[in-house]
Amino acid sequence: MALEKIPVGVSQCLLGETVRYDGGHKRSRYITDQLSQYFEYYPVCPEVAIGLGTPRKPIRLVATDKGTRVQQNDDPSIDVTEPLADYGRKMAGELSHLCGYIFMQNSPSCGVYDMKRYGANGYPKDKDGRGLYAQQIIDKLPLLPVEEAGRLNDAGLRENFITRVYAYYDWRVNVEPSPSAKGLIDFYSRYKYQVMAHHPESYKTIGRLLANLKSRPIDDICNDFIGEFMYALGHKATRKGNTNALMHLRGYLKNQLDTSEKAELGDLIENYRLGYVPLVVPMTLLKHHLLKVDDPYLQRQSFWSPHPEKLGLRNV
Ligand code: SF4
Repeated sequence: MALEKIPVGVSQCLLGETVRYDGGHKRSRYITDQLSQYFEYYPVCPEVAIGLGTPRKPIRLVATDKGTRVQQNDDPSIDVTEPLADYGRKMAGELSHLCGYIFMQNSPSCGVYDMKRYGANGYPKDKDGRGLYAQQIIDKLPLLPVEEAGRLNDAGLRENFITRVYAYYDWRVNVEPSPSAKGLIDFYSRYKYQVMAHHPESYKTIGRLLANLKSRPIDDICNDFIGEFMYALGHKATRKGNTNALMHLRGYLKNQLDTSEKAELGDLIENYRLGYVPLVVPMTLLKHHLLKVDDPYLQRQSFWSPHPEKLGLRNV
């Protein structure tokens, strides 16, 4: 678990700064009051940074023959596509140390998902757009966990994003600076059950990738690994996946528990599988039993605490 705060980029208006086109802000208390205890924010407002004042006339995404453009709503001749894209490329270089990014939704600069695009006739055309600044950050830093502030209201998406940020930070601190076979295996041995819970297909792919560490330069294997690993964690852990990981971990206890303890644990896992109790319920009992077993491999599993327990992300 991180001892220092994790560097995370954030759309500046989410911190309560009055940089919006209308002179307002979009403060998110979850971001400023909760996550700020764990994240060190790097706030950016791309529209202000490229010289659009506050307040300013609103801009929007427009689908044209030349691709998606960013133009002023009431005057398409004012087109800020290139300045926004250039600024995004520049910031991707300057912010390459980040381990996560929280973007403001519904913004032609910062929005990540389902952004409305207009046709040249001025009418809404589709929802296939992405904010121009966000697009550059995502393209240039493809491993970076990103999320929109609005989607953090969804418990599953919130847990998934924070899990990815913590795992990526762990990688960047403990493996990336000097890649080695030992570092890679140490890292993955802590995350195996998490990958199993998030994306079983990647669990198999990574198993094959790590089966022969001498076949290629370790830097290449590490690159392939972290790509697949972050892809795996990008899938939300499902009840089925978590149940599978819980059952595997329970297997380590088969000689340690008596009949009634086994039955109690089995019941809780089943109740979690059926959706009657949150993950924290079987996890707490399993942890209680497993931590009595003197096995460093089990005790180091990130599946127990992939993020700070104080955030209560597994209580729902
Ligand atoms: S959404 Fe992005 S561009 Fe718009 S005000 Fe917030 S930080 Fe600035």
